Amino acid sequence: MALKSSGEYANRLSRMRPNVYCRGKKIRRDDPVLEHPINTLKFTFDAVNDPELKDLIVTKSHLTGEEVNRFASLNRSVEDLYATQELKRKCCHRVGGCTQRCMATDTLNAIGVVTKDIDDAKGTSYHANFERFVRHYQTNDLVGSTCMTDSKGDRSSRPSQQEDPDLYLRVVEKNGKGIVVRGAKNHITMGPYVDEHLVIPTRAMTKDEGDWALSFAIPADADGIKIITRVVAPRPRIKLEAPYNKYGVADSVVVFDDVFVPWERVFMCGEWEFAGRLALTFAGFHRHSYCGCKPAVTDIVLGTTALAAEYNGVAKSHHIVSELTELMIIAELVYASGIAAAARARRTSSGIFAPMFVYSNVGRYLAGVNIYKEFDILNSIAGGLPATLPPEEDWLNPETGPALEKYIKRKPGVSAEKLHRLIRFISDFSCSAMAGWNQYAGVHGGGSPIMEKIGIRSEYDLEAKKRIAKYLAGIVD
Ligand SMILES: Cc1cc2nc3c(=O)[nH]c(=O)nc-3n(C[C@H](O)[C@H](O)[C@H](O)COP(=O)(O)OP(=O)(O)OC[C@H]3O[C@@H](n4cnc5c(N)ncnc54)[C@H](O)[C@@H]3O)c2cc1C
Repeated sequence: MALKSSGEYANRLSRMRPNVYCRGKKIRRDDPVLEHPINTLKFTFDAVNDPELKDLIVTKSHLTGEEVNRFASLNRSVEDLYATQELKRKCCHRVGGCTQRCMATDTLNAIGVVTKDIDDAKGTSYHANFERFVRHYQTNDLVGSTCMTDSKGDRSSRPSQQEDPDLYLRVVEKNGKGIVVRGAKNHITMGPYVDEHLVIPTRAMTKDEGDWALSFAIPADADGIKIITRVVAPRPRIKLEAPYNKYGVADSVVVFDDVFVPWERVFMCGEWEFAGRLALTFAGFHRHSYCGCKPAVTDIVLGTTALAAEYNGVAKSHHIVSELTELMIIAELVYASGIAAAARARRTSSGIFAPMFVYSNVGRYLAGVNIYKEFDILNSIAGGLPATLPPEEDWLNPETGPALEKYIKRKPGVSAEKLHRLIRFISDFSCSAMAGWNQYAGVHGGGSPIMEKIGIRSEYDLEAKKRIAKYLAGIVD
């Protein structure tokens, strides 16, 4: 049975070689510090039994014929792309933000597309490696990271021009059995609680940069890998427990210190012409994912803002209604871009459907440039309490609790507990380390807005627009 339980997932993490470092010490993967981030991933396993989600999340593998988790599957049709987008929106509602697991799904789809392109052009056999790996991944219901973003050093210099060539991950040795790689990938979400690191290039390479044109999969605890991680989770609760406070995230610097990768796990090594294509193909899939998950974050901002206004007794004020409508427009425009990208998807030579690049990028861009505006709306309508409300201990203390019940008050009929719960949620969601993470992820995850602009321009037919202008102006060349 390819669908594994969240318990099986946690068990296999606890058996891995300890190579995770957190807050100054080496930790095992069952260390309590990782509990909240791992809960987020466990949700993606439990969801296969959830009546609202199971029809979306359980799908069939075209490779094994078995039922598999959609987070471990390839997009073989436009319907798959619609389903994946809807799944992300619904799952993010449950965990209060990023479910994280889609990144590897997008990476696998991109590697699938580009390995076939490389084989078609060069007669290599990377796609067979890829399909073998996907069978293994699906059969064991694995979780993968996306190791794309290199350290990059001086941004104005190319990989081959850096003072230290390791600032972009590179191959340092090739032999009959495999390759040896050295470097590091930064910002890697899920680093300590994945089974596999999926490695792809971060940018296009030139002819003399074949050593940096690399893609492969490697077990996350392989010899030579060090994962230096930073965990973010909402503040712990004492009595006012809430679903949001169960979850969290961890990002890592993943160091590859002369790591051996066997050839059967290599998907690109030296084919510099395809490095940029792989980076962009991943970006296309991942920005399409954002068109599902980012509207979910906006939904959370929208619902929370509306509830705060309702509890404050000002739900019908003109400026509040107008701000809430702004949020609806952002959420649905981003989501609509994803639907359009799926409707205009391209069947690639691998049989994988790739969402239309321009629409995915437009959606992701809109989401990225609006993230702070959304939090600004929530902040202004919630008032100042999310930043100043005394901690839960003072609400539970009989000496101070009654005063906090009497004076932390909104419209009649809203109990003190409901209000305390709402304000504490807004505080965790919008005025905390978790909020900062969400905002930075909202701008940079999947590529900063400037990268989407570059992506859009690269595929956009500007000449066609100039021809329209010339026609209307009566200009004949
Ligand atoms: C919360 C979070 C989670 C993430 N998770 C992952 C992950 O799991 N896997 C992964 O691979 N990546 C991940 N990322 C990385 C993300 O994709 C990058 O942050 C993003 O691509 C920007 O790269 P950077 O952070 O190196 O910023 P930089 O490259 O330093 O870019 C910052 C700014 O510098 C300018 N700039 C950069 N280069 C140039 C140039 N050549 N010319 C002119 N201007 C330039 C641009 O204005 C750009 O916006 C994550 C990021 C965040 C914030």
